[in-house]
Amino acid sequence: MLTGQMMGEPLLILDLLRHAALCHPQAGIVSRCHDGSIHRYSYAEAWSRVNRLAGALSELSVAPGDRVGTIAWNDYRHFELYYAVSGSGAVIHTINPRLSDEQIVYIINHAGDRFLFVDPDFLPLLARISPQLETVEGVFLLCEPGEVMDAAAGEARCYEDLLAGGGGEFAWPALEETAAASLCYTSGTTGNPKGVLYSHRSTVLHARAVAGSEGWSLSSFSSVLAVVPMFHASAWGLPYAATMLGANLVLPGGRLDGASLYELIDSERVDAMCGVPTVWQGLLDHMQQVGKRLESVEKAVVGGSAVPLSMIQRFEDEHDVFVMHGWGMTEMSPVGAVNYPTPSMMAMDKEARHNLQLKQGRPVFGVTMKILGPDGREQPQDGRSPGRLLVKGPWIAESYYKSDDRSAFLEGGWFDTGDIATIDEQGYMHIVDRVKDVIKSGGEWVSSIEIENAIAGLEGVTEACAIGVPHPRWGERPLLLVTVDRAIPERDILSHVAGKLPRMSRPDDVVIVDALPHNATGKLLKKVLRDQYRDHLMNASG
Ligand code: AMP
Repeated sequence: MLTGQMMGEPLLILDLLRHAALCHPQAGIVSRCHDGSIHRYSYAEAWSRVNRLAGALSELSVAPGDRVGTIAWNDYRHFELYYAVSGSGAVIHTINPRLSDEQIVYIINHAGDRFLFVDPDFLPLLARISPQLETVEGVFLLCEPGEVMDAAAGEARCYEDLLAGGGGEFAWPALEETAAASLCYTSGTTGNPKGVLYSHRSTVLHARAVAGSEGWSLSSFSSVLAVVPMFHASAWGLPYAATMLGANLVLPGGRLDGASLYELIDSERVDAMCGVPTVWQGLLDHMQQVGKRLESVEKAVVGGSAVPLSMIQRFEDEHDVFVMHGWGMTEMSPVGAVNYPTPSMMAMDKEARHNLQLKQGRPVFGVTMKILGPDGREQPQDGRSPGRLLVKGPWIAESYYKSDDRSAFLEGGWFDTGDIATIDEQGYMHIVDRVKDVIKSGGEWVSSIEIENAIAGLEGVTEACAIGVPHPRWGERPLLLVTVDRAIPERDILSHVAGKLPRMSRPDDVVIVDALPHNATGKLLKKVLRDQYRDHLMNASG
């Protein structure tokens, strides 16, 4: 082999912020604080505090490879930890506070976190779990000195006091790009969560990909709102991607209700925003109530769960906002596919374009996909043949942290996503369902997502969940569970979906429930519901 003669400069996370401080010093970060006030500073100011924080971490003897945990909202202090911890060669372990106490204790002990940085909102959680933590040597509260007088704070110290002792410019260690930088555990519904250990290289490559025009097209003109949490899958890489390009990064803290988000969007002239469908539902409903428009927003990036058609329509018709559907998972840093606008898409009539926007998109450069049919053979990319979705690429996990579970890591370097999808001739990937959630009716696959999409938009229905339950004749049939905000006859719900679905996919019954269960990232816990309703159709004869 003739080796190329180019420099082997490592791709390092810290260089994203170093670059922003130098080339985009006036752009920066706007955060919502606990008391609702707004904190703002530039990337240059962030850089200087990140240097002090790294100095303080080294005083604590935090060494390369050590794990440092955070239980925090999206704000500037969490951002500083992202850069100072990984820049020092240590690993920032972002902890999802919505996991159960038991799971949080498990992941902190499993990760071996030496220190925890905790938002005061999570003090009750901290008090509950502290006695069971085996490796934690100290806790720092992300707040001003004297701001928290709560007895639950116990021995915890103040982050700002720590920073004050941090000194000036830090002598950053030389790191290899393959060094571990951050750690996030999956929020799986079965078994213990599994750790995904990202490297500097994977993080920078992912940031490059999502920032560009196959991603969210960020630039120094952008003001991007990250509603998607920094405690799960690095807020889809936004703290890295926005910094790299000198986009303003707007962080909502813990206030994720429609009114608070709108206030921030309006005051910061947000033009791009990223989050899961439930958050946007709250924002759209709020906007309708107050009769206002999202004047500055051009695009809403939506992922984590499938986007219903009604959401695409409402964003566009009521606010002139383009919905960019995306798909990914913790193991993929997390972005795998994005449905970005293209000339041919924009030339389509509205209905056809909206139907295309329902698909999760095309793989961003770097991610390769294929689908395998039930016989294990690769399916044709015809938009009709579903199969298990396998992926590979430089920001996709090749194993789990301290785990010998290799069930998802297949021969040839492929990762089995656990999703069923189709891919069409243009490369658009469409998620049919999770392998575990697809409804198997008389040998056919019925997509639970398709049924949920068909009901979304019916006035009065606030949330819908379709599950497969045992049926004496068909093996399984779809059952629809919904929450409502007004009285609606069940038959009206069934006739609404019947008009939108092929016969095979029409639910056999609908049940109105008080609430639907969700996991730590807001996804419906369908397994719980399948267990609960397993006898619901057993006496049916149809
Ligand atoms: P997580 O690792 O918690 O981010 O969850 C990843 C899983 O969420 C994927 O494997 C999908 O099943 C689901 N998911 C993510 N984005 C979408 C989407 N746009 N449409 C449907 N499912 C999605």
